[in-house]
Order: sequence, then C-alpha cells, then structure tokens
Amino acid sequence: MTRLAHRFSYEEAAARLQRLERAEVNVPIAGRLNVGLVFPGPYGMGMSNLGFLTVHRLTGTVPGIGVERFFPELTAGQPLTPPFYSFETRRPLGDFDLLAFSISFEGDFDRLPGLLKALGIPLRAADRRPGRFPLLVVGGAGVAANPAALSRLADLVVTGEAETIWPGLLARLLAEGPVAAAAADLPGVWAPAHRPAPPASPPPHDVARAPAYAHLVTPANAFGGAHLIEVMRGCPRHCVFCLARVIYHPPRAVPAATFAAWLAGRPWIDDLGLIAPSLFDHPELEELLAICAERGLRLRNSSVKWERLTDSVLTLLHRCGVKGLTLAPESGSAEIRRRMGKPLREEAFFATMERIGAHGFTHLKLYFLVGFPGETDADLEATAEFLERAAGTAQRTGLTLTAAFGGFVPKQGTPAAREGCAGAAELKRRFHWLKRRVKAAAPRLQVRFDSPDQIARQAFLAQVGPELVDHYLKEEARCPVMRGSPIRGESPELDV
Ligand code: SF4
Repeated sequence: MTRLAHRFSYEEAAARLQRLERAEVNVPIAGRLNVGLVFPGPYGMGMSNLGFLTVHRLTGTVPGIGVERFFPELTAGQPLTPPFYSFETRRPLGDFDLLAFSISFEGDFDRLPGLLKALGIPLRAADRRPGRFPLLVVGGAGVAANPAALSRLADLVVTGEAETIWPGLLARLLAEGPVAAAAADLPGVWAPAHRPAPPASPPPHDVARAPAYAHLVTPANAFGGAHLIEVMRGCPRHCVFCLARVIYHPPRAVPAATFAAWLAGRPWIDDLGLIAPSLFDHPELEELLAICAERGLRLRNSSVKWERLTDSVLTLLHRCGVKGLTLAPESGSAEIRRRMGKPLREEAFFATMERIGAHGFTHLKLYFLVGFPGETDADLEATAEFLERAAGTAQRTGLTLTAAFGGFVPKQGTPAAREGCAGAAELKRRFHWLKRRVKAAAPRLQVRFDSPDQIARQAFLAQVGPELVDHYLKEEARCPVMRGSPIRGESPELDV
C-alpha cells in the first residue's frame, strides 16, 4: 500500500513536470534496446544541462533505441526515495537494458552509490554478472575530467564528446547486445575490464555544423524557461585552474550566420540562453547580441568578461533585457591573478563598473576564488580592499553588489593539477577571515561562500583514482542506508 502511494505521488509529480515541457524533437521511449538516461541531480538542473539534453536527443537518432530519463530529485533538495521509476512511463529503473549517467561535475560521482544500492546493483563492476544487471555507462565533462575514478564501478566510460561517440556506441550495443565487450574497440569508449587505459577519442565535434541546443524546454530549467543553444565550445584563454579549456580543446565557435539561421527556423523562441564556457570570447559576440536584440529576444546571460564590455555591447545586453551582470576578478591580488593566468587592470576594471552602472544595469555580482596555491593573508587583504573599492563604486553608480567566494580545486589535466589545495579547515579559516574583514569594510555588501566541506570533497573526487569504489564500499559498510541520496562522506587526505 505504501509502495503504491509512493508510486502515485511520484507519478503525479513527474506527470505535472512533463505537461510543462515543450518538445522540439520527439525521442522514442521504447525500442529493442532501452536506455535509462540518468542525470544525477535535480530535474531543473538536468533540463538546463546541454550535455544531458544532447545525449537524450542523440539517443533518439539511432533507430531501434528507446530512452527514458531519470532524476533523483524532481524538486531540488528533495531526494526521491526508492523504489525508483523512469520519468516518462514510470518504468522501474532497474528494468532498463542500459543505464547511462550524464555526469557534468565530479561532485555528482557521490550520487551513484546510493542509486545503485537502491536498485540492488553491486557497486563494483567485477561483482556484477553480465546480463543480470543493466549495463552501466558513464560520460560527461565530470567523467572526461577524471575517467579513472569510476573505472571499477562502470562497465563503460565515455571519455570524449557525445556527438562523436554516443550514436555509434548505441548502434554497436544494439547489434551485439548490451555487454561491455561489444564496445571495447570503439574510440572514446573505455571498457575497463577489457583495456588497461582509456583509448583516444575521435576528433572533436564540429559545433559550427551542428550546434547543441535544448530540444526540450521547461519553465523549471535554471534559465527561467528559456531556450538554450551552445554558441561556443571550449575557451581560448589560459586560466591555469580551468577544466573547460582542457576538455573542450580546441575552442570552436558557432558562426553568427549559423546562429541566425538556427534562430530564424524557430520563430517561437522569445527567451534565450547563449551557452559557452566564456561567451564573451566568442569572435562574433556583437553580431550574436545584435541578432538577439533585432529579434526582440530576452537574453538570460549574466556572466561576462569585463574587458569585452564596450558601450555597444552594454547597450545590446540592456536591449535584450539583461539587468544584472556577473564578473570574475577571482582575486584582489595582482600576483595571484597573474599566477592564475587571469590578468586584470584594476583602473580599467573599475572604470568598466562605472559604465555598467551608467548603462542602467541594476545588479553586479563579483566572483572570487580562494585557496589558490601560495595565497597568503596579504592576498586575502588585497581581495578585501578590492571589494571595498568595488562597494564604493557600486554605491556611487546605483548598482546592487554581491560577492561570491568559491574554493580552488586542482583538476586533472590542467596546469594547476599538481598544485595541492587548502583543506576544509584552512578554507573555513580563510572564508571566516574574509567574512569579518569584508563586513567591516563594506557592511552593506552581500557575500556568499561555498561550503568548504563540499570544496574539499570535490578536490578529493577530482584526484581520486579507481580506488574510489573501495571508498564507497567502506562508506556503505559504515552507513548501510545509502538510499538514493548523495554520500556526504569524509574526503581522505589528498596526495597532490
Ligand atoms: S575564461 Fe573562463 S572558461 Fe576561459 S579558461 Fe578562464 S575560467 Fe576557463
């Protein structure tokens, strides 16, 4: 009875969300091979994630394949309890031939143990008898960043871009059956039981020919229901901590003419998010913005590069309904910025702030990264002074200013990968210091700090190797009720 009530309430909530979705492409939900596509986070985040949506759309291009989605939270912060059912038809999740996890950042690795345990699937791939359980496939930016981490948990690890790998992988599994051995020779697909190391990926996807876009749009997405298109993949800059520039190399832009044609074919779009790791480095930025302004679109972008904010760019953004902007100076210390590969001329930066206010923008958010190797209290003091000046500028120009602080995480493959990082206790100290100092210097400034524990956990997950599954099994022994919720376990000391 309880189980039925659980199912009905899930069914009702999922159906309500489904009714709000607008689909540009219909993707088959049943086929000869059925894929459960899991986004290991809230529904609204999944529906804002072009990687996840692209995998969903591409799955529908392979004849004979059916796909249904699953989100462990329909509402953010409210994890579902088992048993788990698919989003579209409420099919038990364990019944799919293949479960594909689209993982865009390492923190989501911790979602997998709870989900698998709830489905009765052994965590270690070696403990699963082939054919008895769904084939487990993992991919996405988080996996490309650290493919080894899930290599003893997953049957297949996709290490490259979905467009160049996923349809071919599905066609192979359809033809030969959903077993890891069938795909062990494919480029960009690592079958850890059959190969000691990840194979090379195919050449990068040509985004200029086929940009990624949201074929399913919902008001619950993180862009307030806007349509989404990726206008650039990768980034031409050289911030030493940045993963996006490494895994999406080389940078590729969608030409303005292609974007214009894409938009012209979709007269229903009036609200749009332009997706790129660094949109303001698009070589035809002004053309893109002019096309949007001409069409009377509302743009949902806020993250900008201060040095690209010319008067005409500010005017175009304002015409597109953008009211608030986010800039990332990263640090108030010139030396730390230099070492990060993110130079900034302070006089020009504050002059840009003045112009942002003069153009009628109302909100400005500044983002800082704390804990970069070599950072001293003098560097923190420089950040506090930078913010004090920014708060004064904001007050003069009528901007509401907020500051957000994150923590440095050394990511594999980046130049800063082996730099080491501050642990949770040291980050807590630095955040606390900044909080007090900034409050004294700029009492009206709103400040937000990421969780030091989560930053430390992310650092662990970014560096851990195949032994991650052993950590999970230890956690499981300590805490037997891992029911769909992410692990909130300790992060063993990093050896970096
Ligand atoms: S500008 Fe942004 S996306 Fe580009 S390398 Fe720097 S942090 Fe990465």
